[in-house]
Amino acid sequence: MIAAPETSTDKDALIVIVGAGGFIGGALTRYFRQRGHHRIRAVDRKPIPEWYQRVPGVESLCLDVSEPDHCRRACEAATEVYNLAADMGGMGFIEHFRIECLQSILINTYMLEAAHRAGVERYFFASSACIYNTDLQKDPAVRALKESDAFPAMPERGYGWEKLLSEMFCQEYWAERGLKTYIARFHNVYGPYGTWDGGREKAPAAICRKVIEAKDRGTGQIDIWGDGTQTRSFMFIDDCLAGIDRIVHCDDLIATPINLGSAELISINQLVDLVEDIAGVKLRRQYKLDAPKGVAGRNSDNTMIRRVLGWEPCIPLRKGLATTYAWIEQQYASRKAGRPTTRERA
Ligand code: NAD
Repeated sequence: MIAAPETSTDKDALIVIVGAGGFIGGALTRYFRQRGHHRIRAVDRKPIPEWYQRVPGVESLCLDVSEPDHCRRACEAATEVYNLAADMGGMGFIEHFRIECLQSILINTYMLEAAHRAGVERYFFASSACIYNTDLQKDPAVRALKESDAFPAMPERGYGWEKLLSEMFCQEYWAERGLKTYIARFHNVYGPYGTWDGGREKAPAAICRKVIEAKDRGTGQIDIWGDGTQTRSFMFIDDCLAGIDRIVHCDDLIATPINLGSAELISINQLVDLVEDIAGVKLRRQYKLDAPKGVAGRNSDNTMIRRVLGWEPCIPLRKGLATTYAWIEQQYASRKAGRPTTRERA
């Protein structure tokens, strides 16, 4: 179980998590349940058997929260609402499906209104480092991005603009209507129960899967998107959950976007080195220079989170990756043997 921050919610309060059938929402549902919360409503538009995690003792509802009526149902009697629902994926998805990404604006728009009308006390929105000005991310030796770097605005097309506008909605619901909103800008989150195949997976899971496939098939080689010099930081899921809880229960952070990410910068080539090391293999690298690769460099400046919360994501990448690799390897083996994966058994 993850160490508790000091400021957690009343155990009798109704917590609503939308996007709970996905990676972070599913993990957050489990986190609150393990911390003794017994009134949790988990919501996702996917049919319940397809949720990544299903947590016993939780009310699970299949609702589409881009519809106002469904948002009202989701927020009924809620004390806290966590919005982790979005149509999203890794670079391969957000570069090719900008319309789907932009359409997620409906989710936060209607969820905020429903939360406000339901008298919700705290509302969380999952934003992204993709809101940052892309002009500041053209060099792999990037300067870490601080919160004030969002403006002047030039975010990632589609996905980044949706997140930036949704942040503004959250800020105005506080300013004009008094709804306490909390906004975290996640920098690449990874871990068990994340998407690891199918086109929406992000770099850590994709690289783990490709290394596992190369070992299994004996190909001795791996495809890498771009030239491998792109840099990023990656946050393990447990840090993300602890960060969300801390942010939502810190009143200095009402309507104040804050970075939630690791500051451990690494290139994609170094990420492959790490995974190869965990897997005990060395592979030939084939660079796909025409594949989606995103900005040249991106890192999280954690000055603000350290100052306000006295904490920052701290799980070393090597450690989180070893756990993630082991989980994906197990999923891969189950699928190959025709057994249900963890998700399919959930
Ligand atoms: P995910 O795709 O695993 O989960 C998102 C869930 O939202 C899915 O289960 C999906 O079915 C659900 N959803 C989408 N539209 C919906 C709708 N209209 N109604 C109900 N449910 C709907 O993604 P994730 O990685 O868990 O990301 C959670 C949030 O964090 C998203 O807002 C995402 O943009 C944000 N984020 C994630 C990362 C990351 O690295 N994973 C980075 C930055 C921001």
